[in-house]
Amino acid sequence: MDDLGSALNDNPDMLFMGGGNPSRIPVMEQVFKARMHALADNPEQLFGALGVYKSPQGDTRFLKAMADLLKREQGWALTERNIAVSNGSQSAFFVLFNLFAGAMGDGSHRYIQLPLAPEYLGYADSGLSPNFFHAARPTIELLEGNLFKYHVDFTALQITPETAAICVSRPTNPTGNVISDAELAGLNQLALAHQVPLIIDNAYGTPFPNILFTQATPLWNENTILLLSLSKLGLPGARTGIVVASEQVIKAFSNANAVLNLASGNLGPALVQPMVESGELIQLGQQVVGPHYQRKVTEALAVCRAALAGTPFRVHKPEGAIFLWLWFPDLPITSAELYRRLKARGVLVVSGHYFFPGLGDDWAHCHECLRVNYAQDADTVQRGFQIIGEEVRRAYADV
Ligand code: PLP
Repeated sequence: MDDLGSALNDNPDMLFMGGGNPSRIPVMEQVFKARMHALADNPEQLFGALGVYKSPQGDTRFLKAMADLLKREQGWALTERNIAVSNGSQSAFFVLFNLFAGAMGDGSHRYIQLPLAPEYLGYADSGLSPNFFHAARPTIELLEGNLFKYHVDFTALQITPETAAICVSRPTNPTGNVISDAELAGLNQLALAHQVPLIIDNAYGTPFPNILFTQATPLWNENTILLLSLSKLGLPGARTGIVVASEQVIKAFSNANAVLNLASGNLGPALVQPMVESGELIQLGQQVVGPHYQRKVTEALAVCRAALAGTPFRVHKPEGAIFLWLWFPDLPITSAELYRRLKARGVLVVSGHYFFPGLGDDWAHCHECLRVNYAQDADTVQRGFQIIGEEVRRAYADV
C-alpha cells in the first residue's frame, strides 16, 4: 500500500489501476451535491452531522432507518439494536476479527477461516496476533472465452475447535467472484453447526451498492455478521460502514468502537438519511451504480482480451466488484516482477500474491495473477491494458 501511494507521488501521470477507488459517476455526484446543500441549509441537521458525538453505536434515527430498509427489502427480522455504524467497514473488520479471534483468555488461540483464497488484502494485517487467518485453496473451473471461476472446495475447508469465525467477501475483492447461493448456504450451515459466526463482507454487493453482474441472494440471520459500506456508492471519503448482527455482537462492537473512536463519523449517515428512509439508496444502486459498472466491465473485458490476445491469459469471470483478476498460467516471472515492470512503464496494478492471506503453502498460482482496477476512465483502461499486454507478451517470450 505504501508503494501504491509513493508511486503516485513519484509519477503523477501513472495509469492508476491499483487501488480500490470507485468510479466518478456524475449522477451520483449530483445526488451527493444536492444533499450537501440541503444539509448545509438546515441548521439542526448540520448540527447533528457536525456538532455532536452520537452514541458509539451510531445515530438512532439512522440505525432505525437502516433496520427498516433491510427489513422491508429483505424481510430480515431486524431492529435498530441489530445495526451499528463504523468509520468505514475496514475498521469494523479490525474490531470484529479481534473480538472473535487471536489469543483467548484460556490460553488457546483462535483464527478466522477464509473459505477460499484469493481474498481481500485489507484483512491480511488486521490480526493482533500471528497465525490469525487460515484459508483454503479453491477449485478452478475453466470457462469459455479465456475466463475461469473459483469455487469453494468444501473438501479442503476445515472447521476446527480453533476456528473463531468464517469470513468471505461477496462479491470478492480481488477476483470479482460471487460465491453462489448454494455455496453461501453451505457456509451458513457449517457456521451454524460449529457455532461460529459467518461474516459476509458486502462492500460491493446487494442491496447496495449493487456492483453485481450475476444473481445473488443476500443472507442474514442471527449467526451472520453482514458488513455494508457507503464507499462504493461513491462516498469512500465519508468513511461509513454498517454492521448488521445479533444484538449481542452489536453491543460488543459498540463497546470496542467507543474505546477506539469514541463515536463514528456522522456525516455519511446524515448525507444518506433521506435516501435510506425512502429506499432511494437501493434504487440508485440498481439504476445508476450497477449499470455504470456493468458497462465499464464489459468494455474493460473487451480491451483486456484484445491486449492479451495470443498469450495464455485467463480472466476471472467478472461477477461483481471493480476489478479484473488476470491469471497467467506458467508465467516465467513472478507477478511481483511483472508488477515492477509495469510500474516502470507507468502502469500501477497490484501483484496477486498479496491476496492469499492464511494460505501459507507454495501454490504457484499465487504468483501468476494480477489485480487490475477497471473503474477509472476509458482512456486509462485502454492505455493501461495496452502496456500490460506488451509486458506479458515479453515475459512469456523471454524464456
Ligand atoms: N471489504 C472489501 C472487499 C473492500 O474491497 C473494501 C475496500 O476496498 C473494504 C471492505 C473496506 O471498505 P470501507 O472501509 O471503505 O468501507
